Amino acid sequence: MSVGWLRACALVMLGLFSVTALAKDKTAIVIGGGLSGLTAAYELQNKGWQVTLLEAKPSMGGRSGMATSEWIGNDKTQPVLNKYVSTFKLGTTPAPEFVRTPGYLIDGEYFSAADLATKQPATADALKRYQKTLDDLARSIDDPQNPAATSTLHALDQITVSSWLDKQNLPATARQLINQDIRTHYDEPSRLSLLYFAQQNRVYRGVSDRDLRASRLVGGSQVLAQAFVKQIKTIKTNSPVSAINQDKDGVTVKVGSVGYQADYVVLAVPLRALNKIALTPALDAQHLAAIKGTNYGWRDQIMLKFKTPVWESKARMSGEIYSNTGLGMLWIEPALKGGANVVINLSGDNARVMQAFGDKQMVDQVLIRLHAFYPQARGSFTGYEIRRYSTDPSMGGAYLAYGPGQISKFWRLWERPLQRVTFAGEHTDTLYPGTLEGALRTGQRAASQVEDLAAGKSFEPAKVVPAAAAAGAAGAVAAKKGNFFSNLFGGSDDEKKPEPVKAPEPAPAPVAPAPAPTPAPAPAPVEAPKPAAPVKTEPAKKAAAKPAAKKPAAKTEAKKAPAKPAAKKAEPAKKPAAKPAATTETKAQ
Ligand SMILES: Cc1cc2nc3c(=O)[nH]c(=O)nc-3n(C[C@H](O)[C@H](O)[C@H](O)COP(=O)(O)OP(=O)(O)OC[C@H]3O[C@@H](n4cnc5c(N)ncnc54)[C@H](O)[C@@H]3O)c2cc1C
Repeated sequence: MSVGWLRACALVMLGLFSVTALAKDKTAIVIGGGLSGLTAAYELQNKGWQVTLLEAKPSMGGRSGMATSEWIGNDKTQPVLNKYVSTFKLGTTPAPEFVRTPGYLIDGEYFSAADLATKQPATADALKRYQKTLDDLARSIDDPQNPAATSTLHALDQITVSSWLDKQNLPATARQLINQDIRTHYDEPSRLSLLYFAQQNRVYRGVSDRDLRASRLVGGSQVLAQAFVKQIKTIKTNSPVSAINQDKDGVTVKVGSVGYQADYVVLAVPLRALNKIALTPALDAQHLAAIKGTNYGWRDQIMLKFKTPVWESKARMSGEIYSNTGLGMLWIEPALKGGANVVINLSGDNARVMQAFGDKQMVDQVLIRLHAFYPQARGSFTGYEIRRYSTDPSMGGAYLAYGPGQISKFWRLWERPLQRVTFAGEHTDTLYPGTLEGALRTGQRAASQVEDLAAGKSFEPAKVVPAAAAAGAAGAVAAKKGNFFSNLFGGSDDEKKPEPVKAPEPAPAPVAPAPAPTPAPAPAPVEAPKPAAPVKTEPAKKAAAKPAAKKPAAKTEAKKAPAKPAAKKAEPAKKPAAKPAATTETKAQ
């Protein structure tokens, strides 16, 4: 062998060694196995990082759906989601036409949008008028990334959506349906910042429904979560993180008595869950206030299963059905999980008041209401699945829904890394919070921030307009009587019949949260529901992402982990009789 050849071999070996050494040096821990954390872990791993993903629950996927009914947008409206759908070669089915228009269940009677126009013209007209006013409001925002760009817009953050609705003099039924729509997609109108509502409507303004609800992910968003899980080498479930300690050399993440070390951390847990993680150095007052105070919408989902459809056959023809009673938004699931399923979304204060009930009692309450309209419901009922996102401590609500004054205080706060920690999660997205697209976007952003940090980049604090400025602006706008914005100010109870529009009232106190309306107590059961015969329902665990042990890729420990001598962590699949995710239960009645 020539000397030149030997030298070349030595150089190659040296090169390989230094690449390995370099790769070994790049370690990251991702906390939270929802879609944002999964995206961050996947992206970092693809860039050569050694990633350990820590998930508190026994299963992966976080809030990704139970009902397998999410419609997904096309690549024009949800480019990140579509990119992963095609990377992982996931199946989709095109959305049928009937999802385009909502239906209405008014005092038990089903109306299509066309029915409503002919049979309840006052309600239909009021809904149109509301849409037009909302569109005008959304149009007033030039840049949804910077919704409080002017003092006038900034002032909108100080008032609630219900105050604004009060000024529209809507007939009672229209107001109930509008409330139901808003609380289903965000939260109770009395808890929601008008600026946030306007900003979200600006984001989706002009987006065609055909683009937004283009198709359905076969198997729902859990399938996407599973596709990520298959790719990520090191996942540790049943690993609730309790502390993160940062110093100049790296980060130590504590799960019970076990410490994991890495160079950087992506923290992809919802704010209420973040509240339970001790950070050293501690977070500043603004971050702590955001963790405690940022409003999350409440939305729980109950899937009721029937042998045959018990609702009017034409009601099957609609996607979302808004009920003016406590039933919330209904979604008829055409036999995706066998039989005939209806998903009831209990949202806003309807969800809050229902938390006093156990799962079965909650289902009974819903059945009682449904039974009032569809007497055959009880006989045909076979079982249910329930997901309580609102009170799950690892979520603390369905998704971000800024309350009054909160954009002014917390806008873009979590986009900025804190030393070696970057943040992901739907709540950290400016444009699409509360969506899969938003969660995925933030996972990508957090992963690229880790790369930037490793490359020595520093991040400037995001500009947040002080709340005091908002107070001044609110006053100034309220003083300008008679213009479009001045009519937005005022305050009153949410469900009460609104007063006719009068001269604008003084702006409410700038940052005080809207008082929670007292929700109407759920009526007592009219009769105890008959216990239905036990049925086979699809076990919740089945819907969960594949346990990590079944993944093809070998598991490796994080570089320096665990810091303390190995308290050996069992992989979830190997655990006997692992409990299903805390929020997902499948039961037969
Ligand atoms: C009822 C409902 C309906 C929805 N419908 C749609 C829809 O139709 N279309 C759409 O696009 N989006 C929808 N979404 C929103 C979408 O599901 C979410 O935006 C997305 O799943 C959030 O992902 P995430 O990663 O931000 O958070 P999560 O999925 O909540 O992930 C966070 C993870 O962190 C874990 N965790 C918490 N604390 C710790 C800890 N201390 N240590 C370790 N792990 C921890 C949690 O267990 C969880 O797995 C819906 C959400 C809900 C609740």
